[in-house]
Amino acid sequence: LTQLFRPLDMLGMVYRTIRQGLIDMAEMFRLLDTAVEVPDAPGAPALVIRQPSIVFDNVVFGYDPDRTILHGLSFEVPAGEAFAVVGPSGAGKSTLARLLFRFYDPQSGRILIDGQDIAQVTQASLRAAIGIVPQDSVLFNDTIGYNIGYGRDGAGAEEIDAAARGAALTGLIERLPKGLATEVGERGLKLSGGEKQRVAIARTLVKNPPILILDEATSALDTRTEQDILATLHRVAEHRTSLSIAHRLSTIADANRILVLNEGRLAESGTHTQLLRREGLYAEMWMRQAAEAEAMTEAAE
Ligand code: ADP
Ligand code: MG
Repeated sequence: LTQLFRPLDMLGMVYRTIRQGLIDMAEMFRLLDTAVEVPDAPGAPALVIRQPSIVFDNVVFGYDPDRTILHGLSFEVPAGEAFAVVGPSGAGKSTLARLLFRFYDPQSGRILIDGQDIAQVTQASLRAAIGIVPQDSVLFNDTIGYNIGYGRDGAGAEEIDAAARGAALTGLIERLPKGLATEVGERGLKLSGGEKQRVAIARTLVKNPPILILDEATSALDTRTEQDILATLHRVAEHRTSLSIAHRLSTIADANRILVLNEGRLAESGTHTQLLRREGLYAEMWMRQAAEAEAMTEAAE
């Protein structure tokens, strides 16, 4: 019986850790590797990336069988394009990211990457192809270099250095006497929210995935820091297929296409200009956020 409960304990632990917000996706998957929920299909081949498009084909999903979260969702992100997903809290945006990582399988419908059903390829190859920057990245109690190199097993010093530069961390690292060898976290240097996100971006650069998912990657930052990090993220997203889940609409207005999710359905989609003209949910959200921003500015004056 204890045998039976051990995986449950493991999942409980993972769940609690997520709840406490102590962990980032990469670490979560590492934990889940030891408590595999969704097994690889027997003899599954590796995902082969030529043109990293993403397709959701009539995806129905719920965490519990009696509560459907995604109601037959279909969309396509062509290879190399930058798409955004917006919508009210609870609409199912983060669920998209979890399904792409194959944390769960859809109840029906398919998710394809580069034309291959992700349920039919190995999870290792799938997860190697996708980089995610979550809202709050968590760093290990180790050196900055370790935290960056964690993006990929066997990353060399030069790659770590290049990634730090790509994530605009050089200024910070040069100010530290021990540079990349500086310990961070409880035992060492306290990094600001923006610096932590830069380390997460550097980690993603080391991983060098063809597909990038940003799940509210800048929403925990103040507006100034957000602008800095967004500029870096834009550069990182170039030449990749990207899906940016965003709360603040101003951060994704230049996306190739914006998908507006509401209660697990695609309410509308288009460019920022098209969606404003439509005067639907997006336009309403945009007006509300613009009014809020104005009120904030006035209050600050
Ligand atoms: P969003 O990112 O758009 O705010 P989510 O995709 O995180 O929304 O969640 C969509 C819905 O699924 C919400 O109603 C949420 O409460 C529910 N949900 C999210 N994660 C779980 C889970 N692990 N178990 C059960 N329900 C969940
Ligand atoms: Mg979310």
